[in-house]
Amino acid sequence: MSKQSVMVFIDQNDKKIADVSLELICKAKDLAKKLDAPVEAIAIGHGMKDELSILGHYGCDTAYYVDDPRLAHFTSVPYAKTIVNIIKKYEPKIVLFGATIKGRAVAPRVSSSLKCGLTADCTDLKIGEHTNKARSWKNILLQIRPAFGGNIVATIVSPEVSPSMATVREGVMKMSEPDSSGKVRVVEESCELADTDFMTEILEVVRKEKAVNLKGAKLIVAAGMGVATPESMSLVKELANVLGGEVGASRAAVDAGLIPYDHQVGQTGTTVRPNLYIACGISGQIQHRAGMDESKRIIAINSDPEAPIFEIAHYGIVGDLNDVIPKIITAYKKKA
Ligand SMILES: Cc1cc2nc3c(=O)[nH]c(=O)nc-3n(C[C@H](O)[C@H](O)[C@H](O)COP(=O)(O)OP(=O)(O)OC[C@H]3O[C@@H](n4cnc5c(N)ncnc54)[C@H](O)[C@@H]3O)c2cc1C
Repeated sequence: MSKQSVMVFIDQNDKKIADVSLELICKAKDLAKKLDAPVEAIAIGHGMKDELSILGHYGCDTAYYVDDPRLAHFTSVPYAKTIVNIIKKYEPKIVLFGATIKGRAVAPRVSSSLKCGLTADCTDLKIGEHTNKARSWKNILLQIRPAFGGNIVATIVSPEVSPSMATVREGVMKMSEPDSSGKVRVVEESCELADTDFMTEILEVVRKEKAVNLKGAKLIVAAGMGVATPESMSLVKELANVLGGEVGASRAAVDAGLIPYDHQVGQTGTTVRPNLYIACGISGQIQHRAGMDESKRIIAINSDPEAPIFEIAHYGIVGDLNDVIPKIITAYKKKA
């Protein structure tokens, strides 16, 4: 039995492992290296044993796999019970979940069942130490996330109970290049599940594809409240179209109904790392920056020279976006 592992819950849709789970395996590998510990995974589903080999490419040593036709689709009670059983059996030090619909549904059930800590939506995870009065702990999970409306970045620890658990949103952790020579050991596990555990019956699964692929976009033109009108939004969309990019947005622009939520970038939207991010009429609050400040190049267009977005922009244009964007489009079209 491996001890003190860093374990990841594998989120899957139709047997396809979610990107966030692979991102977390990569993060788990970093954390496990510091602890000299193995990386493990919990996979639950039906007929997906072959799919698990990919976990080895990202650095997972062992995957505990529970195969049951009744678990082909996610329902929170039996999934939580299965995860709790595996955790009790293998006693990992850390358990990570993607902050997806499934991760968010199951992680609190698991933590309350095990009476251990859980920090939601971490933006970073580290191994470190913590001292409180006369007591100190070494090699514990530091769970880092914005708190109090983003006004502080808090480091949260739960040293007295094990495992430490955290959820992380998709795109927050970097996925490293896969190494196809990496192998994972798949250990089949069973879990006693009674019919009464299946309180919900899935009758039909209807999938809605995302209208926009912000995470994979190399170029994003993003609209903020400075865009203000549908006419200005059309300019942002035209610029994105001319440059061959996707359209992103601040939460304020989404809340104002200028654009759907799928386009939101930031702490409660998508985390992006494009080669170029053009922020149009976005002030640059911490919650927006949390989702885009790792972009390779940032251009900010803002009428306020004091706007915080200029602190992180590589190139800043002070001006009215309604004047600036048409000029960029014309100049680009002339050059292209
Ligand atoms: C818990 C929490 C989570 C959050 N999550 C997110 C998140 O995921 N993503 C996110 O974006 N926000 C998020 N927010 C909201 C965030 O705090 C800001 O309110 C939001 O990012 C502001 O959006 P904005 O910059 O578009 O609007 P504003 O802050 O109103 O900025 C508008 C900017 O446009 C400029 N401007 C105005 N007119 C023009 C013009 N004609 N031409 C050029 N510039 C112009 C102004 O100078 C200003 O800088 C969150 C907040 C909280 C509390």
